[in-house]
Amino acid sequence: MSASLAKPRVAKLALAHRPTPIERYPALDALVGTEVWIKRDDATGGADAGNKIRKLEYLMAGAQQARAQVVITCGAVQSNHARATAIAARRLGMQPELFLREEADAGPRRVEGNLLLDTLLGAELTFIDRAAYGRRDALMAERAQRHADAGRRAFVIPEGGSNGLGALGYWDAMAETRAQLDAAAGELPDRFDAVLHACGSGGTAAGAVLGAGACEIASEVIAVAVCDDRAYFEARITSILTDAEGYFSAPPPRAALRVLDAYKGPAYGVPSSEQISFIRETARRTGLLLDPVYSGKALFALAQLPDKPARVLFIHTGGLPGLLAEHARFTHDA
Ligand SMILES: *Cc1c(COP(=O)(O)O)cnc(C)c1O
Repeated sequence: MSASLAKPRVAKLALAHRPTPIERYPALDALVGTEVWIKRDDATGGADAGNKIRKLEYLMAGAQQARAQVVITCGAVQSNHARATAIAARRLGMQPELFLREEADAGPRRVEGNLLLDTLLGAELTFIDRAAYGRRDALMAERAQRHADAGRRAFVIPEGGSNGLGALGYWDAMAETRAQLDAAAGELPDRFDAVLHACGSGGTAAGAVLGAGACEIASEVIAVAVCDDRAYFEARITSILTDAEGYFSAPPPRAALRVLDAYKGPAYGVPSSEQISFIRETARRTGLLLDPVYSGKALFALAQLPDKPARVLFIHTGGLPGLLAEHARFTHDA
């Protein structure tokens, strides 16, 4: 069936290591309470690994077509997206500029994790508070205009790389999965009951809904919100989906979308003590490392879910650099 799949009609760069493996961690099934297969998108690259590089293959192709000299994006201080964008920009000879949200109660700024990599890359960093971050799109547009006034071409990428163009990266990941399942007859399932992943800005979910449906990976995508709520993400993901469908000559069939918003923990970037214990247990029993902002909360949600799908494809979306900035949460042994 893959041969007949409609492909998006738009330029794309080759930045990611692919295909990422689909792996079993048998000890994980007992921890989570169902059959889990892992799409290792934490292994899409080296320091640039994670889900954002798949979106950047499309977004940075757009930046190149615009002959951009500067790439502007935004995120939290420990944003994986901002770091991956900074790496891709340097790789392609562009200057990265990042608007980074700092929490008021964060204490002294620590140059570690993603922020260490941003700094090493010489990205221009503008730290803003939560209120200013609410105006991020206007701030980035103003910055781009200032470059234009000075005769420089700047390209703006929205939070998380989550627009229709970026979401195509997850349509791709599902098409890649289909090819893996077809090639490994007998060793991998032919399909799953659900695809599950952490959801922060909606682009991964939108692309997965399109790709999982069109490529018959699963009939349902479960997006585990790490911020905001279900109503917000349903509207956001629907809008990205409509945008993404515009890149196809005929819109591919969608999988069903289920947004879970009961597993965010205390706040964005703040795990509960149960989530920290789950991440620690998973590391010790299986060797699988999850981060406390995204992948740890997503797999924890599956472990807690009352009506678990029988066979799940969990997309490990990365986040290791963020984990390495969280020593304070993990130094106390439990
Ligand atoms: C950004 C990110 C996500 C969420 O993806 P969205 O497309 O923004 O919803 C999940 N996991 C990790 C590690 C991320 O960096």
